[in-house]
Amino acid sequence: MFCVEVAEVKKHSEKIATISFKQSLRSFPGQFIMLNVFDHEEVPLSLSSPNSVTVKAVGETTNALINYKKKILGIRGPFGRPFKLVKNKRVLIIAGGIGVAPLKFLYDSLKNYNEIKFVYGAKSRDEIVFQFENCLYTTEDGSLGMKGTVVDALKKIDLNFDFVYCCGKEEMIRAVWKVISSYIDLENFQFSLERYMRCGFGVCGSCSLENGLLVCRDGPVFNASEVKFLIL
Ligand SMILES: Cc1cc2nc3c(=O)[nH]c(=O)nc-3n(C[C@H](O)[C@H](O)[C@H](O)COP(=O)(O)OP(=O)(O)OC[C@H]3O[C@@H](n4cnc5c(N)ncnc54)[C@H](O)[C@@H]3O)c2cc1C
Repeated sequence: MFCVEVAEVKKHSEKIATISFKQSLRSFPGQFIMLNVFDHEEVPLSLSSPNSVTVKAVGETTNALINYKKKILGIRGPFGRPFKLVKNKRVLIIAGGIGVAPLKFLYDSLKNYNEIKFVYGAKSRDEIVFQFENCLYTTEDGSLGMKGTVVDALKKIDLNFDFVYCCGKEEMIRAVWKVISSYIDLENFQFSLERYMRCGFGVCGSCSLENGLLVCRDGPVFNASEVKFLIL
């Protein structure tokens, strides 16, 4: 483990914050870190940029993190397989809720080299924490953008894309696949998965999938072709 200095804790809403570090990590979009929140636990978090994580408070440690007052955090990693970075493609990025975190880093890495359409949905406007160009926003309560889900939004746009990236709840990823499957090959649909994890680098086995792949080591980013059983 090594330590980083906290540069800023930026609250986007009551439950969501971006915590940035003074030091950038050698990392790629889609990779995660095991973040040690001192006096609490260590939690896996995707990088939302080389020097930040964007966190939704769901339990004790993440609540402590979004209100963090100490100057130092502990880090192991970055770990895991990143998103494939494409060039000169028509790209669709789909984010559900806090699933936007790794996709923010991805978008920033792809935007100068590709034609990107972003579809970003959440329950309500306070959960929409980033802005993107050429983005269709959806909220379930209609407080921002189109009323409905990202899946409703996908039914309204032309799905002529070369590559699709997605992160959000697994039900959402499955529902997205149902809509896009006639337009996109399994190999060109990538998404990031979450499982309970401890070691972060393929030793403890706590994040293993039904087919034996480990989310921390073989993922968290997978091509749909590698984990067909999850989406079909
Ligand atoms: C690879 C990966 C990347 C992630 N990236 C982000 C991110 O960018 N932003 C974000 O807000 N959250 C992210 N998460 C989820 C985040 O790790 C959990 O919300 C966090 O661990 C909850 O800890 P807690 O103590 O606050 O809550 P707890 O009280 O421990 O748990 C609350 C909920 O979180 C789940 N959870 C708890 N510990 C883990 C764990 N070690 N791994 C996975 N799920 C857990 C529990 O099943 C429970 O449903 C990611 C998880 C993984 C596996």
